[in-house]
Amino acid sequence: MNKTVEFYRHGLGGSEKKAVLKVLNSLFLTTGPQTAKFESVFAENLNRKYTVGLSSCTAALHLACTANRIGPGDEVITTPLSYVATATSILQAGAKPVFVDVDPLTGNINEDLISAKINSRTKAVLPVHLYGMMCDMKKISKLCRINNLKLIEDAAHCIEGVRDGIRPGELSDHACFSFYATKNMTCGEGGAITANSLKAAKLLKSLRSHGVSKEVQQRHGKNPGYFYDMKIFGWKYNLDDIKSSMMIPQIAKLDIQLKKRQQIAAYYDSIFKNNSAIQMPAVVPNSTHARHLYTIWVHPRKRNQILSQILRSGIGAVINYLPIHTLTYFSNKYKYKKKEFPEAERIGASTISLPMYPALTVDERKYVAMTVDRIVRKA
Ligand SMILES: *Cc1c(COP(=O)(O)O)cnc(C)c1O
Repeated sequence: MNKTVEFYRHGLGGSEKKAVLKVLNSLFLTTGPQTAKFESVFAENLNRKYTVGLSSCTAALHLACTANRIGPGDEVITTPLSYVATATSILQAGAKPVFVDVDPLTGNINEDLISAKINSRTKAVLPVHLYGMMCDMKKISKLCRINNLKLIEDAAHCIEGVRDGIRPGELSDHACFSFYATKNMTCGEGGAITANSLKAAKLLKSLRSHGVSKEVQQRHGKNPGYFYDMKIFGWKYNLDDIKSSMMIPQIAKLDIQLKKRQQIAAYYDSIFKNNSAIQMPAVVPNSTHARHLYTIWVHPRKRNQILSQILRSGIGAVINYLPIHTLTYFSNKYKYKKKEFPEAERIGASTISLPMYPALTVDERKYVAMTVDRIVRKA
């Protein structure tokens, strides 16, 4: 008998509903006191000075570029093994994404290949902490310091990650987070960005509201200023109070939710480690994996067949990711050579992500592990 195990089921419940209801019963709906509270609680959790709430991680990555004056004529070094947003945000800023191949064991950007791509147009490095495994930020930040480059982290998978005692945002100019529907914390659609100074935070707050210098709350609050000015060009990327309110209780639950995903990952590992046809991305020593995605790598020529059998068994599984440079828009625009990034291409053809979220039951995880193990053995 087939079960249905969805790829993801959110765990939002009583405390989030209560928080949203409180906002609906109040005066303020858009960016206001709840957003300010979320920003400070989130900054505290990350041990960063400031965070700024935004409408998405894509917006955060875009603003990280524009706030640092990265634009036309500039290059940003990043990984091809990520969601398209990592590269489209660079294009939105008017700059060019320059890809570097990935580490065959983790799937993260290969730190040792970055230097070869640095030239006079290079303005920043933008690593992605793939699946929740942090990149070697000590190594990358040193490289950026030496070459006078900005460092922007795509931490969409990695709120909880630690590596060598370093957390997202700690060694970079900005870390960017996503609260999209399937991420570790979610409000449907949302994002945030870290800032290391009040000046940087103020700039980001202005850029998220058309470059207008006063936020709505300040204009309509206790001492209303009737006048506003627009000094710089910005976008409409603010996070509202409704969404911010449901993020606050989730921050308090991050540790316990991570523990639940760690238990699921450990269980999957214990089954799959006996299957020589399944490889798991490496967890490097001295690190805490944020366990956003549980991904297996199978033989590239068998992946599609395995994936469709998994789906036919009622298990939600997805591909993270089809390498960005192989997608039509990018391959047309930049005319990459065949096998230009061989490791990213190999992993892109091997990868299958399985359900891993706190609401997954013990029966469900067992069904997923046993079914996937059997399908891969027979393939
Ligand atoms: C989800 C995701 C994004 C985009 O996040 P949005 O909030 O949807 O803009 C960017 N990078 C990675 C690695 C992601 O997984």
